[in-house]
Amino acid sequence: MKIAKFEFSLFGINTYVVYDPVTRDCVIIDPGMFDSDEEEALENFIDRYDLKVTNIIDTHLHIDHAIGVEYAKKKYNVPFLAHKDDEFLGTRLRQQAMQFGLNNKVDDISIDTYLEAGDVIKVGTGELKVIHVPGHSPGSIALYDEKDGFVITGDALFSNSIGRTDLPGGDMRTLVEAIKKGLFTLPDSTVVYPGHGPATTIGREKNTNPYLM
Ligand SMILES: [Zn+2]
Ligand SMILES: [Zn+2]
Repeated sequence: MKIAKFEFSLFGINTYVVYDPVTRDCVIIDPGMFDSDEEEALENFIDRYDLKVTNIIDTHLHIDHAIGVEYAKKKYNVPFLAHKDDEFLGTRLRQQAMQFGLNNKVDDISIDTYLEAGDVIKVGTGELKVIHVPGHSPGSIALYDEKDGFVITGDALFSNSIGRTDLPGGDMRTLVEAIKKGLFTLPDSTVVYPGHGPATTIGREKNTNPYLM
């Protein structure tokens, strides 16, 4: 499958569109559109590539990754998928927005379809496998395309860093264990697309990430 990246909002959140270039099916991952310009940027891409959105997926339900969920759901009329253990963050989305001083139109959201470790999400002829990587939040997941060798890691693993663990439900030890068990067992060549910042690889993070040595 192919992947396109958008960087949105004052949080510098990476929103990804993963698509099958043949069938034109796609999923939107971590929709972080903050205003109408950003909504338009995403829509223009989807229109230009003639893509059909089949699902919206969140790696976890922090406000920066979930602020555009409601809009995308209305626009494309497709289910929203995420891990059950982050449901409590969706029902506090409005509160999260207020904590970050965002005044806009943010409503709480609920999950339409729960994802669990081992689930496989079809995108056209491609597949994304769900890996549970709790610790940044309890329901954080990564999405792995084995065939094309990439993984979307949300705020669990970044280039040279890992997610903060001081937010509700966070735990450093849990996060480090989950990365080692769930992500560092993938092939070294796997490209990592994180929730913030540049892409990296599993091999590079194994060798250089100061939090995981
Ligand atoms: Zn987060
Ligand atoms: Zn984030």
